This record gives sequence, structure tokens and C-alpha cells, in this order.
Amino acid sequence: MKNIIFIAPPAAGKGTQSAKLTEKYNYIHISTGDLLRSEIAEGTPLGKEIENIMASGHFVSDEIATEVLRKRLSKPDIANGFILDGYPRNVKQAEILDGIVKDLNISLDVAIYLSMDKTTAMHRALGRITCPNCNRGYNKYENILKPKNEWICDDCATELVSRSDDNEETFGIRFDDYVNKTEPLLDYYKEAGILKVIDNSGTPDETFKSIESVI
Ligand code: AMP
Repeated sequence: MKNIIFIAPPAAGKGTQSAKLTEKYNYIHISTGDLLRSEIAEGTPLGKEIENIMASGHFVSDEIATEVLRKRLSKPDIANGFILDGYPRNVKQAEILDGIVKDLNISLDVAIYLSMDKTTAMHRALGRITCPNCNRGYNKYENILKPKNEWICDDCATELVSRSDDNEETFGIRFDDYVNKTEPLLDYYKEAGILKVIDNSGTPDETFKSIESVI
């Protein structure tokens, strides 16, 4: 199976598409945002250090993001195929990642770009709710992504939560960081010959079909 990197603005659907790929193809989904949020939830020293930075919408340092990623990529289950969701976030991280994959003797096969304009992404972010137990994502503003019962997970009946960084002000910071720091990765992976641009303007199922055609 092809190892995947997702490049997309915040709330463009990386998490939703990763969940679909995981369910259908048993991919290992590696979200640096989720790994960092776990550190915060567990109250580790690292979690305490990054809590305020993440709540502000800014990136944590390259060193910290790389530390959680390297730890996760060192586990043997990634041999089944993995999705990187949220790393790399800038060109420096892409260069670091090239070194890590060389050290670990693994490959990066396809960089999938999901585009989304700021207004649509903001609307999605403000409606986004997640299950803290099984991690399933929902959106209270989109009929096909609403939970059956308000604020309750369809799968495990846990009460849903919204992310502290999914508010209007913080979203603006995250989107601008994406444009300035993450979008240059499109040229980086185009030059590497692994960039695939996916039409993300339809439903999540339509986007998923397009993704399936490139993996
Ligand atoms: P996400 O869940 O991908 O939207 O990430 C949530 C937050 O985690 C980001 O706003 C950053 O503060 C932090 N984060 C996640 N991945 C990275 C990364 N690769 N580099 C720096 N910060 C990151």
C-alpha cells in the first residue's frame, strides 16, 4: 500500500478522509495534532509545555512535532501503510521527514493535496465536533456529517466535544499559517514527483473516490 502525506488547510477533511482510508484499507493514521492533544490530555511535561501554544492556534516547534512523529513512526505497525496527517507543516519539516524515512528505511509514496477556500474551511471548523473516545469526527452544520443524536457519538455513545482551537480568531491564525508555511510544500512534493491534486469540492464520499484513484 502507498504511504500517504495529506496537505490541506485546517478543517478541509484530512481527518474524515483518513478515517475512511483506515476503515477500508487498514491504514495507520498518524495525526501529529492528535498525538500532541494526547500529550495534553495525559498531562505529560510535554503536554503542559504545548497546551497554550496549541490553544492559540500557532504551530508548536519543529523539534516537538518531530519528536512525537518520530516516536510513532518507529512502531512496527506502520509497515501496513500509513497516513501522515499534519506533518510536515513546513519545508523544514519536509526535509526532516526525508531524513527520518531514510533512517527508518520506509517510503513516502504520494502527497495528496485537498484544497479548500478560507470561508468554507472556517464554516467547517466552527461546526466541527469530535468523539473524545473513538475519535470519530462530525459536523453540526452539515447534514451528512451530523450525529444522529445531538452531541452524542453514533458509534460509542460518548458525549462529543469541540476543539478549543476551532474558534473564529484561532482559525484565522491557523489558516494564515497554512498559507504562508504549509502551502510551499506543494512545490516541494511536485518537484519530488509525488504530488496529487484532488478535487475536494464535493461530498466526502466523492473526495474519497478521487483519493482511491491515486493510491
Ligand atoms: P491539527 O489537529 O492537525 O489541526 O493540529 C492542531 C495543532 O497541533 C496545530 O494548530 C499546531 O499547534 C499543532 N501541530 C500539529 N502538527 C504540527 C506540526 N507538524 N508542526 C507544528 N505544530 C503542529
